[in-house]
Amino acid sequence: MVKQLYPRVEINLEYLKENAEQMVKRCADKGIEIAGVIKGTTGLPECARAFAEGGCTMIASSRLEQLEDARNAGIELPFLLLRVPMPSEVPEVIRLTDISLNSELSVLKALNEEAGRQNRKHEVILMADLGDLREGYWDKNEMTDVAEQVETGMEHLELAGVGTNLGCYGSILATKEKLDELVDVAERIEARIGRKLRYISGGATSSLMRVLDGDIPERINMLRCGEGILLARDLELFYGYDMSFMHQDVYTLKAEIIEVKEKPTHPVGQISVDAFGHTPDYVDRGIRKRALLGIGKVDYGSIEDIFPREKGVQVIGASSDHTILDVEECGRDLKPGDIVDFDINYASLVYVTNCRNVQIVYV
Ligand SMILES: *Cc1c(COP(=O)(O)O)cnc(C)c1O
Repeated sequence: MVKQLYPRVEINLEYLKENAEQMVKRCADKGIEIAGVIKGTTGLPECARAFAEGGCTMIASSRLEQLEDARNAGIELPFLLLRVPMPSEVPEVIRLTDISLNSELSVLKALNEEAGRQNRKHEVILMADLGDLREGYWDKNEMTDVAEQVETGMEHLELAGVGTNLGCYGSILATKEKLDELVDVAERIEARIGRKLRYISGGATSSLMRVLDGDIPERINMLRCGEGILLARDLELFYGYDMSFMHQDVYTLKAEIIEVKEKPTHPVGQISVDAFGHTPDYVDRGIRKRALLGIGKVDYGSIEDIFPREKGVQVIGASSDHTILDVEECGRDLKPGDIVDFDINYASLVYVTNCRNVQIVYV
């Protein structure tokens, strides 16, 4: 097998663990546990382990194979499936997970039957759609009826609670009012079934704002958190929160220079379309020094999602397997074989950890 050193992403597992500890502590102070969401790093078991060591009480993903990897790696926390199950994956949901988010009666019935067949108990959280318009019950009467059916008629399922998701499709903010609505739904269900629910799962990283502001409704007792631990960038970038208590440099993407030359900045000849059928704007800045990297869009997605750490280094374009840097103002005398470091965000993190061309190195 071909042995390649670059491109690579270096992952600092100690930083990741400390990030988990920081968030777990802040949430624990409010009586909230964190399900650590591992899909941002494509479910790398080492990252799942850092979540577990940092105090997360469950390991969560939208994808079964990632939970299976974590299980095979010996992580012993309960596994939570985040994406409401595909009917075709019901047997694997029962086999591989302890708890799942749900929004369809037919799927709940199938889970119940399958749990009986496999002689396992499976827990379910019913999802309420509060306006973000992805998964969940819009009609809360229907949701309450379904909750009652699970409680009284599905002996192999346990109704563990209710949850919601915000800020994924509809860009809806996790305000105190929205989370109060979720608590209302939970209390309607509790009144119907005559007991308290174990979990009221108030959303993802975007709900951490309510924890940091101290106005999260008291009965919210679980959040499902990925980005806020893995990267801790979004709450600062989009909402201005001070995240300096977190490591924002858990990952370093490293790529190798394969060419350095002075070239014109404006293409020369008749302009048509680039490798992806688009025609970007090319600004003529005269002749400048450029470096070409052995990494491309196939590896990280979009050039907007990688950020050179070094001053005077700017990404000006890319194709599938090449990235072009302007290095005219870089202090370092760059040459082929030199390595350039990048910060990454959630969008590029999912690509680089999912790409077999990118080596994953733990530091
Ligand atoms: C991805 C996902 C999360 C975690 O989202 P982050 O923004 O990374 O915290 C939580 N809940 C559900 C249902 C998800 O799909």
